[in-house]
Amino acid sequence: MILLNKGHFYKSLSLRKLLHKSKNVNTIRHYKVLAIESSCDDSCIALLERTHPNQTPTIIDHTKKTLNSAAVGGIMPTAAYTYHMSTIANMCIEFCSKHQLSATNPPDLICVTRGPGMAGSLSSSTEFAKGLSVAWNVPLVGVHHMLGHLLTSFLPTKETEQKQPPNFPFLSLLCSGGHTMLVLSKSVSEHEIIINVSDIAVGDSLDKCARELGMYGNMLGRELEKFIKNIPTEEIKEFENLQVDTRLSNKYNFKLTLPYQTPKSGKFQDDLIQFAFAQFLSNIQSYKKNFLNSKIIEDDKIKRMIAYKTQEYIFDHIIDRINLAFKKHGLDRWSDGKFIGVKDFVCSGGVAANSRLREKLFNNLNHKEIGENPLSFHFPDLSLCTDNAVMIGYAGMEIFEKLKLKTNLNFIPIRKWPLNNLLNVESWVKVDDDEINRVCKYKN
Ligand code: AMP
Ligand code: ZN
Repeated sequence: MILLNKGHFYKSLSLRKLLHKSKNVNTIRHYKVLAIESSCDDSCIALLERTHPNQTPTIIDHTKKTLNSAAVGGIMPTAAYTYHMSTIANMCIEFCSKHQLSATNPPDLICVTRGPGMAGSLSSSTEFAKGLSVAWNVPLVGVHHMLGHLLTSFLPTKETEQKQPPNFPFLSLLCSGGHTMLVLSKSVSEHEIIINVSDIAVGDSLDKCARELGMYGNMLGRELEKFIKNIPTEEIKEFENLQVDTRLSNKYNFKLTLPYQTPKSGKFQDDLIQFAFAQFLSNIQSYKKNFLNSKIIEDDKIKRMIAYKTQEYIFDHIIDRINLAFKKHGLDRWSDGKFIGVKDFVCSGGVAANSRLREKLFNNLNHKEIGENPLSFHFPDLSLCTDNAVMIGYAGMEIFEKLKLKTNLNFIPIRKWPLNNLLNVESWVKVDDDEINRVCKYKN
């Protein structure tokens, strides 16, 4: 028999408590999801937890590191690939040790971006995630990046903790550095692309225009917004009233027009219902060349005027095209009625962080074209607008639980993957209820 003194007794008591606690931790352990995203220039990791299938998950933590492309003036695919190759593994080790995740205490599901995106960027995370899945014996879901952006609107925001999530069917404007589209979603797996972009994405255009105006850094769309917010009110009033449809209508000789114009006939030509953002950059370039005769804009007021007008016109073009789509698919007598019954409008992706865009959508979308009541708008939390792994974790959970799918480890990343082909790709594997229950551990 071992005799215990008081010290031993207390030590063994606290050890017992600890063991008991850890046992309890195991029995009440919730379903945890580790997510990794690296489709472009951000290396991102997140941990989410869910206690009930109909509850939005709790974001335990998320982290991001971004390749610095300021000096190059654009994202180089090879630089992004080597960047992720050097960051993801160490970020993941640090993140897992911070959250006590290991081979003996693994997460329950691993989600990783499968596409669309840059091939090298994608594969650096997909291969790493496959390794974790094998080592930890945990199922893996290869997630569509744009589904991630689209479903972010279901996660609570800091400002609107209590706000109701959107109800299917709903419309989403997905506007980021690589994509601009209006999507009609009927369920987690059914998406129709209503408007796509014919040249460059809106974020790319804002970045390029800002660079042309002499700004420097990453995320120049955000810098452009800050620059415009600092313009004195008096000048804003002047710029608001400035007509730039022809050079002759303003003293600056600056000309900007909206790409495509609503046909007056009342019929809808499909090629007109698309976005185009490349011409905004050409406008600034030709103005600099022909009227300023210079590579840099020396007059600060002219710079402010171009910045203001360009951002306004880029967002007006978005509104103009969406209103045309409302006409085509709403209550109009020429329409096919596709949007009737849509009550929610989501705006997501990096550019959705822009407060002027949010304001313009809210004030100028012609909701009467599709229904009597005003639309309910959903804007993600600012921290979740640009690329992040939280959205990949949440979309992966929805795919696993609602669609009952995971991804076979033979999968390869998909560089171009239209959202309307979400399930129409190789390597999806059906999961049965037993596996879902084992992974999710929900209690009745
Ligand atoms: P994403 O591709 O979703 O990561 O978004 C990145 C893009 O969003 C870049 O083109 C950024 O310039 C743009 N962006 C981020 N914040 C803002 C903002 N506040 N206003 C306009 N564009 C922004
Ligand atoms: Zn994105």
